[in-house]
Amino acid sequence: NYSVRLPVQGGDEVAQLAASVNYMSDRIEFYQKQRNEFLADIGHELRTPLTYLKGYAEILRDSSMDSEEQRTYTEIIYEQSSRLQRLVQDLFDLARLEQGTFSFQVERFPLEEAVTDALTLIEPSMDEKGIDLYYEGPDQPLIIRGDRQRLGQVVLNLLENAKRYIPAGSTVRVRVKEHKDAAYIEVEDNGPGIPEEELPYLTERLYRVEKSRSKETGGTGLGLAISQEIIRKHNGSLSIESVKGRGSTFIVGLPLKKDEEL
Ligand code: ADP
Repeated sequence: NYSVRLPVQGGDEVAQLAASVNYMSDRIEFYQKQRNEFLADIGHELRTPLTYLKGYAEILRDSSMDSEEQRTYTEIIYEQSSRLQRLVQDLFDLARLEQGTFSFQVERFPLEEAVTDALTLIEPSMDEKGIDLYYEGPDQPLIIRGDRQRLGQVVLNLLENAKRYIPAGSTVRVRVKEHKDAAYIEVEDNGPGIPEEELPYLTERLYRVEKSRSKETGGTGLGLAISQEIIRKHNGSLSIESVKGRGSTFIVGLPLKKDEEL
């Protein structure tokens, strides 16, 4: 515990120094608290799939069952280990993004291609779930500078969320367009929407709306945090608009002009 408090008396340099030590001490305490909360959340996330894995492995080990039952349990074990694997991969990605050690392969490319690549990947499973998918591209190619793969990952993540959180029979509309020196990707759905008061927290690590419900959807709770970091590294922005009961729109904005940071 680094927490210290110095008395601040008068307005001289010593008092100023004391005040800034107090300020830093508060910040350290704040970050420690955040870190502890994050570790507790991670512990919780890891525990759930591990409990399944251990439990079903024990059943398989200790009992003589027919091959159909065996297959059912093996399937659960497979699904839960995939979930763990996703979680660990996402945690690594996020840590590297925040440390600045995540590697980007920067090139000039038409943004709409990263979007249509993601659409091609997700189309069969959207179709299977009975979700209609529409795409509207730009009038002319929108050449940006960035990591095509990673930006595709962002779009895929938004599409996967839409698929996850909206019911069968809903619609997802994807648009790529240009507006004042910036390119925009919009992913709009007419699903359940997100309560307005929750919108500011969506990109926080492990944050979920109606936590218990979302937990069974297979998401890691890190998707939007990762997407936000990737977009930030491209000097872009992520905005979320949503009306409860009407649907949600996720908008990625990326500069079309020369990008110095990447
Ligand atoms: P997860 O892995 O749980 O999907 P994300 O960071 O990708 O985590 O999303 C955070 C939360 O935002 C989700 O748990 C879900 O509650 C909510 N959410 C994301 N996209 C949508 C959407 N299209 N419609 C409704 N809720 C959504």
